[in-house]
Amino acid sequence: MHIFQSHDKNSSKNKRLGIISALAEEQEGLIQAMQHPERHVHGMREYTVGSLWNVEAVAVLSRIGKVAAAMTAALLVERFGVTHILFTGVAGSADANVRVGDVVIAESLVQHDMDAAPLFPRFEVPLTGLAHLPSDLAMSSRLAGAASTFLEGENGATLHRGLIGSGDQFINDGMRLAALKSALPGLLAVEMEGAAVAQVCFELGIPFAVIRTISDNANETAATDFMAFVKTVASRYAFGIIENYCRNHGA
Ligand code: SAH
Repeated sequence: MHIFQSHDKNSSKNKRLGIISALAEEQEGLIQAMQHPERHVHGMREYTVGSLWNVEAVAVLSRIGKVAAAMTAALLVERFGVTHILFTGVAGSADANVRVGDVVIAESLVQHDMDAAPLFPRFEVPLTGLAHLPSDLAMSSRLAGAASTFLEGENGATLHRGLIGSGDQFINDGMRLAALKSALPGLLAVEMEGAAVAQVCFELGIPFAVIRTISDNANETAATDFMAFVKTVASRYAFGIIENYCRNHGA
C-alpha cells in the first residue's frame, strides 16, 4: 500500500526529497530540525516524514551495504512517494588528493564488487549496459554549491567531484585499495551504499545525488577513530550542507 500519493516530478511544488544516511549519528540533527515530523516504521527502518526548511522531506537510515541501501531507496520511492533522493554519509579515500575531512560529491558511481564476466564486462551492472551510473547533474551541482558555502567555514576542507565506488566490504587494506584504483583510475572514494541507490534510481527514473565526507584512508588505519569522526565532524557537515541545500531549494 502506498502511504502517500506519487507526485509529478516536474512540478517544484510537488517535490518530496528522500534523505538517506547510513549511520544514525548523521541523521539525528536532521530529524530534530524537522517540522511536523511523523514516524513510520516499515521493514526494519524508521521513515520520518516532515518538512526541512520548507522542503517536504523523508529521512531514513539505510543501514549498511548495497542491498540495505537498495531496499531503502526503492521503498522511499514506491511507498513514500519521494521524487528525489539525496544520500549523505562517510567514505574512505581512494585518491592521494582526497584527504580525511574533505567532501566528495559523486558524478557517477560504480559497484566495485560487480563482476559478471565473461557474460558482461567487469563492473557493468547486468542488463543496464552501464558500469558507471551517473548522478543527477542539477542536484549534484546544487549540492556542490551548498557544500562549498558550508566548507568556507571549515579550515582546509576541499570539495571534490568524481567517481565513487560502492561494495559490500569495509576497505581497510592498502593492497586491495591499490588493486581497485588500478582497475578504476578515476576512483575518489569507497563506501558501501551509493552505487546501489544509483542503480535503483536509474531503474525508476528518480534524480539522485550522493555526498560523502572522507572518514578514513581505506587502509590499515581505517577503523581508528571512525565513530569519533562520524560524531564530531561528519554529522556536522551533513547537517550544514543539507540545511544550505534545502534553503536554496526554490532557487
Ligand atoms: N566500522 C564502523 C562502520 C562500518 S561500515 C562500525 O563498526 O560501526 C562503514 C560505513 O561508512 C558504511 O556505511 C560505508 O558506506 C562507509 N565507509 C567509510 N569508510 C569506508 C571504507 N574504508 N570502506 C567502505 N565503506 C566505508
